[in-house]
Amino acid sequence: MVNKCARTASLAGNNMLVAVRMRPLSRKEIQGGEKSCCQVVGNKIVAITKAKRPGAVLKSEMGSVNEYQFDEAFDEKVPQIEVYKRTAARLIPSVLEGFNVTVFAYGATGAGKTHTMMGSERMDAERATGAEGGQTCGIIPLTLIDIFKGMKQKQAEADLPDEKWSLSVSYLEVYNEKIRDLLEPSGINLPVQEDPKAGIVGVGGLAKRTAANSDQVMELLRYGNTNRRTHATDANATSSRSHAVLQIIMSQSWSNSKGKNITRESRVNLIDLAGSERAGKTNNRGKRLQEGANINRSLLALANCINALAQGTTRKNAKYRDSKLTHLLKSSLEGQCKLIIIANINPSDQMFEDSHNTLKYANRAKCMKIDPKVVRLQERDLAWPEREKNLQRQREAKQS
Ligand code: ADP
Ligand code: MG
Repeated sequence: MVNKCARTASLAGNNMLVAVRMRPLSRKEIQGGEKSCCQVVGNKIVAITKAKRPGAVLKSEMGSVNEYQFDEAFDEKVPQIEVYKRTAARLIPSVLEGFNVTVFAYGATGAGKTHTMMGSERMDAERATGAEGGQTCGIIPLTLIDIFKGMKQKQAEADLPDEKWSLSVSYLEVYNEKIRDLLEPSGINLPVQEDPKAGIVGVGGLAKRTAANSDQVMELLRYGNTNRRTHATDANATSSRSHAVLQIIMSQSWSNSKGKNITRESRVNLIDLAGSERAGKTNNRGKRLQEGANINRSLLALANCINALAQGTTRKNAKYRDSKLTHLLKSSLEGQCKLIIIANINPSDQMFEDSHNTLKYANRAKCMKIDPKVVRLQERDLAWPEREKNLQRQREAKQS
């Protein structure tokens, strides 16, 4: 039986998309006797089977099968470019129209989140040979290439007075319930700025860099990644212990009939979440256990917000302030934003519990209600100028 929520088509109005991607078993996993317990049926359904013992192959050793239906389901053979085309690429026209878009990769450590969002190491070599958008580039570089292409076209067609298109990026991580700037690391825990009228307006003191093409952004990302908190756990040699958030801010500005400058901004958040596995599994102790607790706190708060929004009763029930991650994503989850969730699963029978939890999480998320709006800003709303200045002072004091 396929598990469905009340609303089966979550792409209603193109506002939200929930996809599941299953990675292949690695050579090491196959050599170790691990078997696949997941199957993608067609391009929307994922079936997961609980075996009566690990490594079971006989039909008689197989227990219950659960099937879940999503907007998109990708099996292990689906290449990066197709994952992109069937997910984030569909929202590029919205970004150019002024909508905010958030894409996040969810799943246990080693399930393929970073591969899906960034791509694998071969990506750099491919880009160097001009093979952009090949098999190994993930959603982040492919999205950037298309946004820059779209902006160039818009600029060429510009017909408003003084119309200008530009792009800047910020890159941050949420680590141990603290927001850290990855482009200008300072050790300062940056505040989420919330305005009573405008909602979440950003992160105070976060560095913003303008970029003229996707290569420049990738360069910034590579630099930012060297500042990320990764640490080996039993589950993955370079397990990400933080949630990494790339914010792309695309601006279109022009002069109105009174000569006043008008700016329309759209924000794209591309998020590589930390692993969703349970702490017990990783044998973590001390500091690692504390990190795990904080990762789980953020992901639990995210799940709780998704549950509250899925029930559709009231947005007030969603407790965004329970974690830094949900506070930061408040405007995305509340509906000022179009949302794509890509749940990643490792099909190994040894990962049954984690994969099943991920599928249940994604199944729940399908029911969220999203109602985005285009936000037009009369010049930049510079609420919080004092706090900005204070942060700048702190930053300078630390550096001197
Ligand atoms: P996560 O970020 O979820 O911890 P990774 O993206 O680092 O996981 O993936 C773990 C390993 O699996 C990496 O070696 C990665 O290259 C490989 N991998 C993940 N997804 C795929 C895929 N779809 N195809 C091939 N290899 C993959
Ligand atoms: Mg990762």
